[in-house]
Amino acid sequence: MPVRSITCPACGKFNEIEDANLACRRCSTDLEPLLSLDAAAAGLRLLGARALRQQQPEEALALAGQAWGLSPSRATAQVAILASVGCRDWEGLMCWRQRLAALSGA
Ligand SMILES: [Zn+2]
Repeated sequence: MPVRSITCPACGKFNEIEDANLACRRCSTDLEPLLSLDAAAAGLRLLGARALRQQQPEEALALAGQAWGLSPSRATAQVAILASVGCRDWEGLMCWRQRLAALSGA
């Protein structure tokens, strides 16, 4: 199992998850639901990236939006940015660039 890192939503501790113990080391909050969300978002993002390669930017944008709703990430924003360009959706492009910048600054 690859090492995953996740910030506990309850106490803010940064946890590195490297075994089957999916609880926060400080407060014991169960982090598994967050990891599942993360995995679901990654799946949607991969589908979005595939849609991009298949010249279906509208589909890619919709998938990236869903992935972002589950668990925002730089990679998802990057898919959405490429998809926005593909759709010639300049307002959406600005919006996604701001989201990416906000995430990078966090
Ligand atoms: Zn915690």
